[in-house]
Amino acid sequence: MTTPTLPESTMTPILVTGGSGYIASWIIKYLLEAGYTVHATVRDPAKQSSVGHLLKIAEQAKGTLKLFKADLLAEGSFNEAMQGCGIVMHTASPFVLEGFSDANEALVRPALEGTRNVLNAVNQCPTVHRVVLTSSVAAIYGDNEDILAVPSGVFTEEHWNTTSSVDHNPYQYSKAVAEREAWKLQKEQSRWDLVTINPAMVYGPSLTSGSQSASIDTLVQMGDGRLRTGVPKLTIGVVDVREVASAHLLAAFNPAAKGRFILNATELTMLKIGKILRHKYGSQYPFPRMEAPTFLVWAFGPLMGPITRDFVKRNVGLPLKFDNRRSRDILGVQYRPVEETFIEHFQQVIDDGLLKKKR
Ligand code: NAP
Repeated sequence: MTTPTLPESTMTPILVTGGSGYIASWIIKYLLEAGYTVHATVRDPAKQSSVGHLLKIAEQAKGTLKLFKADLLAEGSFNEAMQGCGIVMHTASPFVLEGFSDANEALVRPALEGTRNVLNAVNQCPTVHRVVLTSSVAAIYGDNEDILAVPSGVFTEEHWNTTSSVDHNPYQYSKAVAEREAWKLQKEQSRWDLVTINPAMVYGPSLTSGSQSASIDTLVQMGDGRLRTGVPKLTIGVVDVREVASAHLLAAFNPAAKGRFILNATELTMLKIGKILRHKYGSQYPFPRMEAPTFLVWAFGPLMGPITRDFVKRNVGLPLKFDNRRSRDILGVQYRPVEETFIEHFQQVIDDGLLKKKR
């Protein structure tokens, strides 16, 4: 578990985009507790379900929170919030895996144009010296199958996702094109530097029940019966949200932090997540008990939601491995056991009443 030790807070504010989000809320909490002034952007600062938890955290903390309205798709939207900031943490980007008909509009355009908008504002704001971008391992690989082309069998920060497109894995594609654009814009100037945090799938308790993050929905699915008949034999990387938030702070304040940082505690199957939860909660909830045969996932996957046949072919039953050494050695991230992550997250899902709503 990582508790970041931060330099004495200065009067220089820090901008966090997408402040209402699952990951951003933890970043803001840590910054406010350390006494920093945080400028947080949201699309609707009057929406209680987006900002209520942040205002409560700010009331108890040493630091100061200022909310600003900004939209990724509106040019110049971030200029006002960025005034006087030294560090920009750009987390805002849609993380949804279903419920849209136009992947370009829902995912790719906000991710790419949003990154351009934020970094164009950075170019116009002389006080900013560092940008920490929330990228993803989705910018490193698209499908588990991609690992077969890696001789070591381990993804590192050297690798880039070249297999996703707007039609196949559009979320992964949105993260890859947005991060590439960020590096391109950074290299065109020399005043500000860029560090990217590339987390695997993030879990752990949420400070907000208003987030649309797929992290929260996929954990709800584990307990609401949708996966009762079996889960695909799918290996994913996972990391606790508190480590991801800490890594943003460690990257922001450590001058030695340069380049990309994979954040991944371990790799595990979806069945293993079900086992961890059953070990704690017994049979109170219909956690998955078995892996569905691949042919069944292939046949019925497309009926179950965003699992396409192409996805099944390129992911199910295939291994996955990440090298997280840079995050440990340079940033000093210490990963907590994933059992703690899933149990605390599931407990919060129960406490927030998210299961009852879906059952
Ligand atoms: P989240 O809770 O849905 O947060 C995303 C934020 O983006 C929301 O708070 C939303 O703010 C903002 N946003 C979306 N569309 C926007 C738009 N058009 N204009 C302005 N803001 C917009 O998701 P999260 O899981 O915390 O994800 C945060 C970041 O981490 C994303 O960049 C995501 O790709 C990355 N990431 C997440 C995971 C994961 O497993 N969760 C893993 C790797 C990387 P408002 O709706 O309040 O305006």
